[in-house]
Amino acid sequence: MQNNPHTTLITTEAPVAANTHGGRAKCLQRLVRLDLPVPRTVALSFDAVHQIAEGQVPDIDAILEQFDQSALLCVRPSSEDPDWGGPGAILNIGMNDARYVDLSDSMGAEAAAALYLRFVQSYAIHVARLDADVFDDISADGSEGLSQSLRAYEDETDEVFPQKRGEQLIAVLRSMARAWDGTSARLLRQAKGAPADAGLGLVIQEMIPGVGQGECGSGVLQLIDPTTGMPQITGRYLSQSQGRDALGEGVAALYLEKDPRGKSLEEVAPKAFADLKAHAALMRAKLREEMQVEFVIENGHVHILDGVRVQRSARAAMRIAVRLAEDGIIPPQEAVMRVDPHSLNEMLHRQVHPEAERDMLTTGIAASPGAATGKIVFTAAEAQASAARGEPCILIRRETSPEDVRGMHAAVAVLTEKGGMTSHAAVIGRGLGLPCIVGASEMRFQTKKRLLTAPDGRTFKTGDVLTIDGSSGQVLAGQPAMLEAALDDCFQTLMSWADDERDIAIRANADTPADAQTARNFLAQGIGLCRTEHMFFDPGRLIVMREMIFAQTPSGRAAVLERLLPMQRDDFVQLFRIMEGQPVCIRLFDPPLHEFLPTTRSGQRELAEALDLPVSDVERRVAAMSEYNPMLGLRGVRLGVTVPEIYDMQARAIFEATLEASKDGAPVVPEVMIPLVSAKREVELVKSRIDTVAASVASERGEEFEYRLGVMVETPRACLRADDIAPQTAFLSFGTNDLTQMTYGLSRDDAGRFMSDYVRQGVFVEDPFHVLDPEGVGELLKLGAERGRQAQPDVTLSVCGEHGGNPESIAICRDLGFDYVSCSPFRVPVARLASAQLAI
Ligand code: PEP
Ligand code: MG
Repeated sequence: MQNNPHTTLITTEAPVAANTHGGRAKCLQRLVRLDLPVPRTVALSFDAVHQIAEGQVPDIDAILEQFDQSALLCVRPSSEDPDWGGPGAILNIGMNDARYVDLSDSMGAEAAAALYLRFVQSYAIHVARLDADVFDDISADGSEGLSQSLRAYEDETDEVFPQKRGEQLIAVLRSMARAWDGTSARLLRQAKGAPADAGLGLVIQEMIPGVGQGECGSGVLQLIDPTTGMPQITGRYLSQSQGRDALGEGVAALYLEKDPRGKSLEEVAPKAFADLKAHAALMRAKLREEMQVEFVIENGHVHILDGVRVQRSARAAMRIAVRLAEDGIIPPQEAVMRVDPHSLNEMLHRQVHPEAERDMLTTGIAASPGAATGKIVFTAAEAQASAARGEPCILIRRETSPEDVRGMHAAVAVLTEKGGMTSHAAVIGRGLGLPCIVGASEMRFQTKKRLLTAPDGRTFKTGDVLTIDGSSGQVLAGQPAMLEAALDDCFQTLMSWADDERDIAIRANADTPADAQTARNFLAQGIGLCRTEHMFFDPGRLIVMREMIFAQTPSGRAAVLERLLPMQRDDFVQLFRIMEGQPVCIRLFDPPLHEFLPTTRSGQRELAEALDLPVSDVERRVAAMSEYNPMLGLRGVRLGVTVPEIYDMQARAIFEATLEASKDGAPVVPEVMIPLVSAKREVELVKSRIDTVAASVASERGEEFEYRLGVMVETPRACLRADDIAPQTAFLSFGTNDLTQMTYGLSRDDAGRFMSDYVRQGVFVEDPFHVLDPEGVGELLKLGAERGRQAQPDVTLSVCGEHGGNPESIAICRDLGFDYVSCSPFRVPVARLASAQLAI
């Protein structure tokens, strides 16, 4: 039979591969090669199973001659990837009236009846396709239950139960082969990533019954705790049982190792337990993986039926990979490859416990990972009051604006009705490491009435408790159990291995000293984007900012900017000190000025009082500054060109801070970045003013310093004209948030409303604000990078949009030879791991 490529007895030499016979067959062969006590097994190839499904009758004699005439058999599926599933195993093939009588003599009538009964019922349901409820009324066990079941089978099929082992086996093989082609099985495995033409292999194995004289039974064993990945023997064992009976709900299974909670296999059969442990350790070492060992004990002797990769949580996956490498079983590079970078989010943030019950109200866009529970509040002021009382709160807004930032700082999570992956709430949430869901448009937000209504009609008011799961996008009622973040040694070890492999630098987007500290903790190699405008939302500064906006004359504006200067300078000194000589890229002011003005009447009244102006003046001014399309209006470098005093002040603050921070630490070489450029002349105008400020500061202080001036490439025109722009700059940093918005003509703040429809209907493969669009925006990046480099070969290239923290997008940047990517501090580890995997 070894000559038949489709039907193979598993031996050490047999040609069995995962892509011809499936993962289970392959694994069983590895166990045989390890000389483990594996029952005799025959593997059917994908082709053989396919032919059976098509109606061809297998050469059953050739199969049966591999087994003892009296052996009972079982058939299990063997798909290429075990995660793709397959039809359930069928046990005890070969049971018939005569075997029942024989076995009753050798193992007792009750055990023999249990084997036969199990086979009759599973054959009836899975092969003869009878309804399972045919057996509902059969309550008796043993021989009585058996005869009732056989009778039920005959009544339903008008046939006697098949008695020949060969006939039974053919029918089982055919039904399993056909089940693989069923629609639901196909959909299920395709959802797990199986290709449309994925094949199924089958393994036919001699049964070790698990029932009978002496200590008999079955169970599973693992050497780790699958939730934490910590070394610990886990699993269950059940005397006088088969298959996975020990795992059934409510069964009185034994522990494996001695356990104060109850009886264990170690006590019942110490030798078998010791053997089993040794077999499992050998499997771990040689299969280079934590395996779940499926075993049977027959009169005190252990048999290994199968080994499958232990199902594991994300944090267990990381610990398993690191421990295997530390034990010298796999190289560190392989450990790095085995951890999914996306899954790191589960370790970096608190999570809803995987086993907790979820009272789900709705799902929005999972904009910033982690989970938090709190009382809901509807304004930033309420959030601050709640934080002051020490009560964790969730800020509920239709959308957030800069005015809400202080509320976001005070809250433990944020939920908004509108917005997408790069909307204000999402960007700030990720920056703060704050769980955030945006675009929860199926909920009704009545923020004035302080009411939130779920799609099922339940309403929540101020003070009611909700949980935001920013990892899944689920809004939950109440307070489910949580799992804490796990930034342990294991995490640090994996990260250091990743850093050894990486060939693209990772910086962080950090606006505040706290962000910068987080970036340092995660070993970011500098700050790639400091959005300076975020420094002005502190209530004490906001009012000065507003005064500046309201100034009527250049000299009036200059006077207010004088007051802002020391504040900005202090911010930068702090950032430089925290970053200890690592590069810090400071973006000059970007948003439209009116974002700093109050939108509500009461806010405008307060401002009028503070500035000692009539309310009507304030209202008029706010109205005059409003724009139809502010994202495409007077912002970024356009402000630098038309109101240059703001950039002058910022440049001075940066340079004075540079000298200050260089005094007591490593010399600082600040990077100054101009946002939203679309024309060369914009850069010329701003550059000449900044150079002038630099020269003044140097001469005033009598000290020289260096700085690097760069441009943010976030309009399609800046990409197209990169050859024009690059010669004037030291670096080009692609702001892919705005670049995506402008390439698609898709508002980053409004796209959340229909993005899920677009992705569901396949218009976009992914949300392009989340994963960089390789075909459109990626093309512009390529073009901009090529043209920029052609004109200025030394130009530093980077991405500082939110895509910088997304593994698929990092791959594009690395392929284009970018020097670094910059992302929210909490995504730095994800980016470090993802880029290491690209380099391995
Ligand atoms: C960008 O547009 O990609 C960017 C980083 O800037 P912001 O998100 O502040 O507009
Ligand atoms: Mg931008």
